[in-house]
Amino acid sequence: MHIYIHIPFCRRKCRYCAFYSVPSRVDDEYIPALVNEIRFYSQIYDIFSGDCDTLYIGGGTPSLLSADQISEIVSSVKRYFRLSPAEFTVEVNPESFTPDFAVAILSLGANRVSIGVQSFFDDDLRFLGRIHSAEQSRRAIEIARTYNFPEISVDIIYAIPGMTPKKLLENLKIALEYSVVHISMYALTPEEGTPLWQDVRTGRVALPGEDAVSEQYLAALEYLSACGFVPYEVSNFALPGHFCRHNIAYWEHRRYIGLGASAHSFSGKCRWANLSDVEKYIRFWVENFDLKIPQNDFNFCCVAHDLGLPIDFCEELTDGKIAAEKVMLGLRTMWGVKLADLGKFAEPVKRRANALIHNGILNYQGERIWLNPEKRLLTDKIALELVQDFL
Ligand code: SF4
Repeated sequence: MHIYIHIPFCRRKCRYCAFYSVPSRVDDEYIPALVNEIRFYSQIYDIFSGDCDTLYIGGGTPSLLSADQISEIVSSVKRYFRLSPAEFTVEVNPESFTPDFAVAILSLGANRVSIGVQSFFDDDLRFLGRIHSAEQSRRAIEIARTYNFPEISVDIIYAIPGMTPKKLLENLKIALEYSVVHISMYALTPEEGTPLWQDVRTGRVALPGEDAVSEQYLAALEYLSACGFVPYEVSNFALPGHFCRHNIAYWEHRRYIGLGASAHSFSGKCRWANLSDVEKYIRFWVENFDLKIPQNDFNFCCVAHDLGLPIDFCEELTDGKIAAEKVMLGLRTMWGVKLADLGKFAEPVKRRANALIHNGILNYQGERIWLNPEKRLLTDKIALELVQDFL
């Protein structure tokens, strides 16, 4: 069982960001609302029973929380769930990650810190609309190292205008000089509705084309592999033994609960998302203390509807959709897709996969299909081809 907690506040919105967060300090009322939501979901034993293996506090900007606020959140999770996480990650941003915050989260049991570096070049950071400098990123990693976090991960963005394979490798080299054990590397994408998307649409910004993106990705893949990093997922690279267990849970289609405004959850059958509206989220959970789950044997979507929970959507997945998600998520990883996990959908997937196996695009062995790392940028396209009969 896995828990994600969303902190939807940032000092300022980055111009490429499509995650839900509001440009504001942390609203004091958010904490009691979150605590009440944590209490509420702990009643759903049928879905979320068992030990919590991973806890991930993400955002937004969790490092905007005060020591007291994050302590109250984690204490509530410990009070209401069986929490003995093998992995407890906190996302931090360079400008707000302080020694005091590092001490606070370590004392709560955090053993992994994920730092939103994005680039060690100030011109890239300015383009992205980040509010920190490269120097602040270096300081943030130094803080994490000084306080001996067992796992330090950094986020890096590539495919920024002006980026070259050489500049990307320079970024990665600097990260590795700090002995980080995990790198998440994402291509800059113009998500609809963001200022970046608007600029791309109106021609004010030209992003690198597919070939240039692929060239940068392959250069990074080669470099990181030569440095001992395993490309265990399309965007994630880690030294052996330092894979992110929480994210693996998503890709392995395991149950997780997302708490906080706009957080997503998956019960094994239903998938739902909390409202991306922090004010409504707070109002509901502050006004509905003591909300009880009527029974434990139920369809979550019906209960959510009956209780008027502050959610954007709840979808009960068909068997076909579950199989399709397993293919789409599994193909992102080095473990690929176990056909036996797809039940009656294994056969149509295998049928569609045959031509790709024959052409050397997909690998097949031991009733498992997977993509070599250098083909993983094609994951979405290939996955759609495999599941089109039953999506
Ligand atoms: S700090 Fe992260 S969550 Fe906040 S606006 Fe920037 S990219 Fe989005």
